[in-house]
Amino acid sequence: MNFNDLSIYLTEECDFACTYCYYKKNFKTTLSYDKIKSSIENYFSNIANKNKKIVVTILGGEPLLKKELLFKTIDLLNLKKDKEKLNIKIIVFTNGSLLTKEYAEELIRKRVKIILSFDGIKKANDSYRKIRNENKSAFEKVFENIKNFSEEFKKNISINMVVGPKNCQYLMDNIYFFQDLDFFQIDINLMSYAV
Ligand code: SF4
Repeated sequence: MNFNDLSIYLTEECDFACTYCYYKKNFKTTLSYDKIKSSIENYFSNIANKNKKIVVTILGGEPLLKKELLFKTIDLLNLKKDKEKLNIKIIVFTNGSLLTKEYAEELIRKRVKIILSFDGIKKANDSYRKIRNENKSAFEKVFENIKNFSEEFKKNISINMVVGPKNCQYLMDNIYFFQDLDFFQIDINLMSYAV
């Protein structure tokens, strides 16, 4: 059978409450490891072409809130990749609030590509991205984590930037900001609805 790439919504929980979030309510569901394992086994057992590149994307909510489950899932995928010689690329989305040097290092060591959802300079990022139940800047929380990352880390991190009516005027400032930080992989997503 021909399948598209696999997305695992590890948890609905998130420590952010971005105004453009598709989870409008405070959902709490987290997948169990058994459920993830059986879904992965089922998925790969139905793939006809074992040489085909499969991108497995892990996202949420915020996956790093469930660090042990996340790392266990990645380990399972890496085991399959090595044992069955599958062409699997693993991607993890994060809002960056928990992306400490230690966690980033571990993800990169586990051959994961990190997608950091971050909308740029403070004015641009904090237009939509908010910390849940806290009146603090989401920008500052993330920037504190990433500002001293090594070049090696940055090669494994892509920025996912959302642009909408409230922050579009900062688009070029954001691009220069990321360039100055040595992040050169930037995906720009135009918001398709007003919030
Ligand atoms: S970080 Fe992502 S999942 Fe969390 S509130 Fe923001 S958009 Fe939603």
